[in-house]
Amino acid sequence: MKQKTLCVHAGPGPDPATGAVNPPIYATSTYAYAAFGRHRGWEYSRTANPTRVALEQAVAELEGGADACAFASGMAAIDALTDLLAPGDHIVAAHNLYGGTYRLFTTITTRHSVEVSFVDVSDLKVLEASFRPNTKMLFLESPTNPLMALVDLAEASRLAHKRGVLVVVDNTFLSPVLQKPLELGADVVVHSTTKYLNGHSDAVGGVVVVSDPALGQDLHRIQNSAGAIMGPFDAYLVLRGIRTLAVRMAAHEEGGRAVAQFLAQHPKVLRVFYPGLPTHPQHQLAKRQQRGFGAMVAFDVGSLEKAKAVCDALQIFTLAESLGGVESLISHPATMTHASVPKEERERLGISDGLLRLSVGIEDPEDLLADLDSALAKI
Ligand SMILES: *Cc1c(COP(=O)(O)O)cnc(C)c1O
Repeated sequence: MKQKTLCVHAGPGPDPATGAVNPPIYATSTYAYAAFGRHRGWEYSRTANPTRVALEQAVAELEGGADACAFASGMAAIDALTDLLAPGDHIVAAHNLYGGTYRLFTTITTRHSVEVSFVDVSDLKVLEASFRPNTKMLFLESPTNPLMALVDLAEASRLAHKRGVLVVVDNTFLSPVLQKPLELGADVVVHSTTKYLNGHSDAVGGVVVVSDPALGQDLHRIQNSAGAIMGPFDAYLVLRGIRTLAVRMAAHEEGGRAVAQFLAQHPKVLRVFYPGLPTHPQHQLAKRQQRGFGAMVAFDVGSLEKAKAVCDALQIFTLAESLGGVESLISHPATMTHASVPKEERERLGISDGLLRLSVGIEDPEDLLADLDSALAKI
């Protein structure tokens, strides 16, 4: 099935009881037993809820996985993955992960005596040297936030699998429409559904997709025990968002390319970070492992003052954290998403004070370029 068709039809299909083409929002905490000692397959909504299961099936199909588990947030999904590990285990993580994942790994995960190394995974030699006998998980993001650096997912997975290491890819930035990590060799995909999957900036959620059904069972057990479930209303919203995911991603991509090209030739912009630009150092890799370049664009205007002036002047782009919604957003990583990363570490990573990050929405690209043009004229 083609992407657009899959997005519209992924999941269990019409409700068997009524034929409703959309799964009902099963607003129920519990389920009546059919008879003493005999339930109907549903017992309690922490364990499973039909609306959540419909979403889980849909995302599993989109990513080409065997099973999925939907959580209360992207961070809850990532935290549940760390529950697969035991004290003494080791995670190799990309050095420029989403700020919240960095915070989770450095402040919570390590408290449970799981070691985490942050390494430059774009260099496969560095990656290979970072595996230890106790390494159990490789945690990757591609492209990364906010500098749009890529990892060769197929090659990284191959190196990890030689050592029996589980490969997790946070696919939030591209969505399954633009990248399918399981096809490239990863074992687990995680999403913040808050972003492109839901796409309308009106619900927080997360999902984990696995290729191995046994691992799926493990995660359902962890979720049932720890309890960080996605509620049925949010599951409904995300599933509704998925119906238009392919057409939204095409519109996002059109805007993303136009904005990146515009910024790349603008005299006030020092650097643009977008894998779709031929000047991006990993442009060839992006063409090979992605089905598009997405709509996340970062650019450097040189200083905190100039970054502030641009944000203040923009009319259509809203200054806000998050990404992946239909509306265009701008953020200033140094004071917003990456404020919890120490300044020296930020600078080492290349997240300068003049760096701005855009989540390009699905507005008409001409309006977006005009907005950026007049804001940049202020500096
Ligand atoms: C937003 C985000 C998360 C965290 O998801 P929440 O839904 O905010 O908990 C994780 N990874 C990436 C890449 C994100 O953008």
